[in-house]
Amino acid sequence: MAKRAAKNLSTIRAMQQDIAKWANKVFPDRTAHKTLSKLMLEEIPEVVVALRKIKEGNKDVDLGTEIADAFILLFDVAYQNGIDVADVVTEKMRINKAREWSVDEETGLMNHRKK
Ligand SMILES: [Mg+2]
Repeated sequence: MAKRAAKNLSTIRAMQQDIAKWANKVFPDRTAHKTLSKLMLEEIPEVVVALRKIKEGNKDVDLGTEIADAFILLFDVAYQNGIDVADVVTEKMRINKAREWSVDEETGLMNHRKK
C-alpha cells in the first residue's frame, strides 16, 4: 500500500478539490474534452499495459501510479462539469446495489439486467 498522503485527502470530496486546485493552477486553459482525451488515449492504455506486464510476471510495474493518473483525470473531468464525485458515486452505487447483474458469456462483460 502507498504511504498515507501528507495532507488529509481521506474523503473523495477533499481529494477531488485538491486535484481541481492543482489542475486550475497548472492547466488553467484545459477543457473537459482534452482532459478526457488524455485519459482515454494515454492513461487508460498505460493501465492496460501495466496489467498485461503484471500478468506476464513483470514485478517492476507501478499499477497504482497508473490507476492514480486515470482517477485524477476523471475526477477533473467531473470537476470541470460541476459534478461532485462523492455525491454521484454514492447515488450510483445505491442504484447498482438494487439491480440484478449478470456476466455476458461471450464477452465476459458485466451488465445489469434490463427490467
Ligand atoms: Mg500514467
